[in-house]
Amino acid sequence: MTDYSNKVRELFDGQFREWKLALDNYKQLDGVMVRSVAFPGYEISVQFNPGRIISSAAKVDSKSIEARPCFLCSNNRPPEQRGIPFGDGYILLINPFPIFRRHLTVVNLAHTAQRIEGNLGTMLELARALPDYVLFYNGPQCGASAPDHLHFQAGNRGFLPIERDLDNMDLCIRIAESEGTELWLWRGYGRGIMTLKGRRSEELERVFKRFYDRFALWQHDRPEPMLNILAYHTDDQWTVHVIPRKVHRPACYFAEGTERILLSPASVDLGGVFITPREEDFRKITAGEIQTILGEVCLDEEELANLTKEIL
Ligand SMILES: [Zn+2]
Repeated sequence: MTDYSNKVRELFDGQFREWKLALDNYKQLDGVMVRSVAFPGYEISVQFNPGRIISSAAKVDSKSIEARPCFLCSNNRPPEQRGIPFGDGYILLINPFPIFRRHLTVVNLAHTAQRIEGNLGTMLELARALPDYVLFYNGPQCGASAPDHLHFQAGNRGFLPIERDLDNMDLCIRIAESEGTELWLWRGYGRGIMTLKGRRSEELERVFKRFYDRFALWQHDRPEPMLNILAYHTDDQWTVHVIPRKVHRPACYFAEGTERILLSPASVDLGGVFITPREEDFRKITAGEIQTILGEVCLDEEELANLTKEIL
């Protein structure tokens, strides 16, 4: 498997020379306001990022989606945008509205629905080809602002708190191991997360599929069971965090006046960086509110323990 690191570095350099909007938006990350909210054993960072309002407040109901030109289709992309072909069906693009200092969108060449079934293998290949990045997937009903066009995103490693929290033995516990694939569950982390580790992608795909099928029974009325996924490849091993969801947006998103917090959680937020596009939310959000949001949108530990029982 080719390492795409150099190609991607060149892509960023070239795009920063040719595409002012992208350069300006990446430069703005230097001045972005961040604060840390402490919980027992871990922290959540909160990032004030006004550029993300488009994504956080995106209307993703099917009517609104059908009415807009798809911004991931090649004929609607900005003329300055260049890409690197990946495999036989994808293109790597820089994300012009970044959260990470290096933020990619990996877009399928066809306008085909956002689905993880049958596509986790591609995500794992991408993670291996981009060892300096965390790959992430937002389901069509949990954070993808183009639920009608299959895509992944990638952000530079070392930014999401979940990466280091993984090594905290009190938070992340190994539950089972089979054929070199390990299942880990999180305890006292405010959100139910299933973490798989392994060196064989087919095995990881197989275990994920078993989980997916089981979870699909809970959420049979949806296009796919709601989930966010984070994956990276290091020391010849994949780490895959699967974060099943109950709802798309928390109650505070829909509240009015001072009760409102405009926050639409997806992979990055659940990986420990809450993105607030409005400054007032950035300043006021409390640990209690973060806890409530996580509790509303994610499964709890017990639900996830049931759902993953004997999955290996
Ligand atoms: Zn499209």
